[in-house]
Amino acid sequence: MYNFTGELEGQTKENEDVQQLKRQLEEQKLKNSMLEKKLYEYKKKQTRVATYKTESEFNPTNFEDINSLSVPAWEQDYSKVYKRMVELNQQGITNLHDYFDQHPKEFFALIKQVQVTRCNHAADKLLNNRKISTLFDLFHPSGYKCIIETLETIQRHEKELITELPVIKSNGESVYCLMKWISHENHLKSYSNVHISLFDISDRYQVENQLRETNRRLSTLLGNLHGIVYQCCLDTHYTMLFLSKMVYSITGYQAGELLMNRDLAFINLIVPEDLPSIQKQLEQAVLNKERFTLEYRIKTKSGEEKWVWEQGIGIPNQDGVIDTLEGFMVDITDRKKAQLKLQNEQLHLQTVFETIPDLIWLKDPQGTYLNCNYQFEQFIGAKEEDIIGKTDYDFENKTQADWFNKNDLAAIQANQSNTNLEWVTFASDGHQALLETVKTPMFDSNGELVGVLGIARDVTKSKQNEKELKERKNWYKTIFNNTGTATCILNEKHEIVQMNDIFKKLSGFTQFDLDNKIQWMDFVSPQDLPRMIQYDKERRSPGENPPRQYDCTLISKQGTHHHVVISIDMIPGTTMSVASLLDITLRTKALQELKQSQEKYQNLVESINDIIYELDDAWNFSYISPSVEAITGYSPDFYLGKHFMSVVSPSDVSRMRKEFDQFLNSPDSTPFEFQPNTKNNQTVWLRISVHPKVNRGAISGLRGIASDITKQKAIEAELIQAKEKAEQANELKSAFLSIISHELRTPLNAIIGFSQLMDDSISKKDLLDMSKIIFDSGNHLLSLIESILNLTMLQSKQARIKAETFCFDDLLKNLRFFLEGELQKNGNKKLCTIFPLPDTNHKIELYTDKTKLIQLLSNLLSNAVKYSDEGVIEFSYRLKGSTITFAVKDEGIGIPLDMQELIFERFRQVDNSNTRKYSGVGLGLAICKEIAGLLNGNVWVESVEGKGSTFYFELPQAAKTRKIN
Ligand code: ADP
Repeated sequence: MYNFTGELEGQTKENEDVQQLKRQLEEQKLKNSMLEKKLYEYKKKQTRVATYKTESEFNPTNFEDINSLSVPAWEQDYSKVYKRMVELNQQGITNLHDYFDQHPKEFFALIKQVQVTRCNHAADKLLNNRKISTLFDLFHPSGYKCIIETLETIQRHEKELITELPVIKSNGESVYCLMKWISHENHLKSYSNVHISLFDISDRYQVENQLRETNRRLSTLLGNLHGIVYQCCLDTHYTMLFLSKMVYSITGYQAGELLMNRDLAFINLIVPEDLPSIQKQLEQAVLNKERFTLEYRIKTKSGEEKWVWEQGIGIPNQDGVIDTLEGFMVDITDRKKAQLKLQNEQLHLQTVFETIPDLIWLKDPQGTYLNCNYQFEQFIGAKEEDIIGKTDYDFENKTQADWFNKNDLAAIQANQSNTNLEWVTFASDGHQALLETVKTPMFDSNGELVGVLGIARDVTKSKQNEKELKERKNWYKTIFNNTGTATCILNEKHEIVQMNDIFKKLSGFTQFDLDNKIQWMDFVSPQDLPRMIQYDKERRSPGENPPRQYDCTLISKQGTHHHVVISIDMIPGTTMSVASLLDITLRTKALQELKQSQEKYQNLVESINDIIYELDDAWNFSYISPSVEAITGYSPDFYLGKHFMSVVSPSDVSRMRKEFDQFLNSPDSTPFEFQPNTKNNQTVWLRISVHPKVNRGAISGLRGIASDITKQKAIEAELIQAKEKAEQANELKSAFLSIISHELRTPLNAIIGFSQLMDDSISKKDLLDMSKIIFDSGNHLLSLIESILNLTMLQSKQARIKAETFCFDDLLKNLRFFLEGELQKNGNKKLCTIFPLPDTNHKIELYTDKTKLIQLLSNLLSNAVKYSDEGVIEFSYRLKGSTITFAVKDEGIGIPLDMQELIFERFRQVDNSNTRKYSGVGLGLAICKEIAGLLNGNVWVESVEGKGSTFYFELPQAAKTRKIN
């Protein structure tokens, strides 16, 4: 296995720091001890001289020793000062120091009053014979304060005092002097003189200053160290005697809080779990009088946990017993964290090493395995411990082992990695895999070859993927080149990065242009460019949704304009977009032409009078030309969406449905004729042609033209009427001929036949009978001809009315006479007659054409006799105002209903066959109708076939009735 551990850089640095610190400390200590030694010698010279210093704790001891020295001395007159001080005390001013601070003038005045009364020779010598009269002259102003304080102390009955002050020599130099003040008590119990002895301590003062300076430097050094310098007792609390300032920044506690366990013992900062190990190591180090190195955790004032590294040593006391520890500690939290991180990383690396799917192994230069991972074990089929120490020849056949060795050597010789691909079989399960093996020579820190590291990766799958990817690339390329449209790929810099052959043809761009990074904007028409740039921007911004398809005009490299439809979208997961261009220049042109032709067609449709329509597959109107409004009154909008049958007039709907269904069963081009609904309910006839619209074999709708045939229909009706009339006339002509031939022939045959028979051989009686027949036949023929002439006259309007007033009774007499004559002629019939008697109370007069009236009524009476074989024939009349209505009723053969009007037309007979029973030519009732018309009257019949008939003649404004008195 690889050893991933190593010397920590941080730790080395700390060691160096400590070494340097120690060196500096040692130097300072040495300096100090030398200075202290010198000072000691000085002090020894002064024979335990004690100094009085305001800033230091000092107790004056035996002053006699000082006296024994030869020192300059003065006697001072102190009485005035003393008095003033007493006064001030009496005034309640106890703190004279502060008082004189506030009254500097008085202070100086007072000082000046301390007179030097005597000065010895030694003093003169010390001061270079400088003449002084007051203490004021002797000292530098910085010493005045000290003088007044000293005097104040003396005033409090202190007899002997020592101060250290600089004294000014005559050349201006300062001499640092130790001064002994001795008060002389006089009999008045007040002080009047003070004896001051001076001792030059300049040399000592200089040494002390140097010591102070080295101490200051030491202190600065300790204060600026990254770690804490400490000194502690080797007791249960490790009571701290000294802690450098750095303790605050590391622990959060000031040194004062921890020194002498004032607020907290340092041991209490140590994390309890780490303490036993610390104690054990310290015990061991003290026992062996060795240095100790510790790493442990502390809890800072803020509760943070920190790691510290400590190195120290036990210090023996005068008795040689170690009772103090001195050392140095640094904050290694960051280093520790880094170390932990490194450990984790090592662990992680180890896990990776074991779980990585690659095979990893290490061989020494001779090919002996030093190390391998789990995957390699699988390949070899043995455990790591069985692999280490062996070579490939122990596991593989010779050829294979030679091959492996050859590659190892190649890597060593080339002094760089070599890679090879080969199929191998895994010994664990026999599966085969394609391995890509990288062999790298490994060197130690001295550059000596230590072995070859092998890493093999199973690339079976990736090789397969590579193959598939290659295939897919080929597919994509083929698809791209065969999309059928001009296709290109664009990047975010507006450059065309790929294009197919159709695109090249359309744009005129070549591979050379592509290599030179042509921009798609170079072939967009200027009017389309801003819009397309905007779309491109939006396409690349999330949340925007520009159109994916739009039209634009492109200008090829040769300057040809192409109208194209662009379909464009982003390629997912890339900054590229793919655009497909369909050249619709020809289509656009065709569409324009189509539009023009449609417009022409539309104009045509709108200008013709006929209606052009289209129905959809549900037979609803999908189009109808505007001309419909002129015909039906409804606008085209009225029809759109309506079912065809809903616009057909109700009278034609059922017929049209039938015809429509027939048409749908077997579509042909037979036109339909029907009446549509019209806005003003006018009768309109339309003829429509219907042509099916066929889509995939099925009728998807109908279309056709509708023409207004209203006028044509009216003409047709007239033609039919005329035709019917012509046919009638023809029938009448046939009837006339048949009647004429029958009616004329019968009497003529009788006349001619009997005339031929009359000769001598015929008896007289037969001759008389024959001549009667000839006479009757002649009369019949005559009446026939008269009837024809009569009717012709009446119909040609040549007949004139000869109106006259005549008596109604006369008319009755004439008619009765006529009826009797008729009855006689038809003597064989069993007929009775009812005739009205003349009115005896009233006289009725008629004003009309008497002859024609008699002719009309005679005809009716004659027919009643003719068409009745038995029963009653009744003649009656009824007067209503001036209108008189005549009725001729019989119980004869009657007339069928459908003939009751027709019999009033010429030659119309109920039975017009040659074999008919009753003679006649069918002119009688026609003459009656003509006469009725001439007389402004009306003739009609009511009849039941087989039961009889009643003929009426109504004559208005013709009768006058007068009562007879
Ligand atoms: P006709 O010479 O045939 O009688 P008319 O003009 O007088 O001609 O009558 C026309 C026809 O009307 C007759 O042929 C007959 O068929 C019918 N007709 C007229 N009068 C009568 C009637 N009283 N009873 C039955 N049929 C009648």
